[in-house]
Amino acid sequence: MRIDGRSLLRLDIPTLSLQAFGETFRIEELYLFLLLGLVLVLVFLLLTLVLGRAWCGWACPQTTLTDAAEGLARLIGVKVEAGKMTASTGQKVLLQLFYIGLSLLFAANLTWYFVSPYDFFARLSEGALGGGVLLTLGVVGGAVYLNLALVRRLMCKEFCPYGRRLMCKEFCPYGRFQTVLVDPGTLTLRFHPDEAHRCIGCGACARSCPTGIDIRRGYQIECINCGRCLDACRQVMARRQQPGIIRYTFGLQGRGLKALLNPRLLLVALVFAGLSAGLVVAMVGRPEASLKLARAAGAASRVLADGRQVTFFNGFVTNRLQQERVLSLAATLEDGTPVEVKGPVFNIALGGGEKERFNFALVSPQAVPGSPLRVQVALDNGRGETLAREQAFITAPKDNKL
Ligand code: SF4
Ligand code: SF4
Repeated sequence: MRIDGRSLLRLDIPTLSLQAFGETFRIEELYLFLLLGLVLVLVFLLLTLVLGRAWCGWACPQTTLTDAAEGLARLIGVKVEAGKMTASTGQKVLLQLFYIGLSLLFAANLTWYFVSPYDFFARLSEGALGGGVLLTLGVVGGAVYLNLALVRRLMCKEFCPYGRRLMCKEFCPYGRFQTVLVDPGTLTLRFHPDEAHRCIGCGACARSCPTGIDIRRGYQIECINCGRCLDACRQVMARRQQPGIIRYTFGLQGRGLKALLNPRLLLVALVFAGLSAGLVVAMVGRPEASLKLARAAGAASRVLADGRQVTFFNGFVTNRLQQERVLSLAATLEDGTPVEVKGPVFNIALGGGEKERFNFALVSPQAVPGSPLRVQVALDNGRGETLAREQAFITAPKDNKL
């Protein structure tokens, strides 16, 4: 997808920038990504505290891939029960072909964050994808294929190579977090004990469970809140004109939404709100352009014949907006006295997201006796607005000679 000809979401390695929703963010704005990262971590925390493993059951790429694999398996007649497949040889061959196709699609999709799909297919047909892209396709595609062929739902639950309760491990770190984060107010699926007498013991709930648990034994951390047992039970009970026995509930004590009003959740919500507000302020106050100055290496300050002093600098200007800008530098002393700027620093035309490096010199309005002269350098947009400011110092040469 494109906005004004630019990708909706793309990491541009050559320019070290991120295109996102019509904006371009450069590497210098890394602090925004850190802030966004913290906000996303808190979103995950909140989601887990409120909705339990809903991410695992509804949005995680691992679940999506596994659902796709199981969906296709069912389409070709494979029996899928409790997350296990029973397939004939022909069906297994078909499944492996599907895994290979899905893995390549997944890997290609990942590269599209870096190479536009429009360029990707053109370069693919010319055999000019490049080593980095081919390596990514091979490594990611291979990893996804092994995942589909060997791991699938194992990723989401405890894996006990030597039997239950012996050296059990969890592949997924997020799955491990659940045990810490799920609290008495979290949304979960519940086999209602008060209505257990209505259960006919058909086992449809356990057979439909992708993680292979039986919800009738009570809450288990392997539950990913997918709701399949609820659907299965509802269908069975509907034939008997009765409501299902399995339901969603906030907390196991049946306190409803009130269970969410607990100190832990409120504290996380408060931190989330504070960080989100900080991110919004940082985005709104994002400068339209940036200016960086550095003393020119190897070009010493000089005293001119009239006693004024000149110091040489390198300037770096970045246009952070998408529209073309014409920018100029101006310099003043702290008391507002103009300082002469020499060099190609006027009417610098920069396209959207472009940057430019240039050399220039600051000339003091009078001799600087000994101590450096502090100068305010401003980047103007030609309409009287200052987009960025930096400080520079005009210094006296060491030997103070012409
Ligand atoms: S117990 Fe029910 S909601 Fe939980 S993972 Fe199994 S089918 Fe999904
Ligand atoms: S699907 Fe419903 S009725 Fe059947 S065993 Fe599970 S809880 Fe009982």
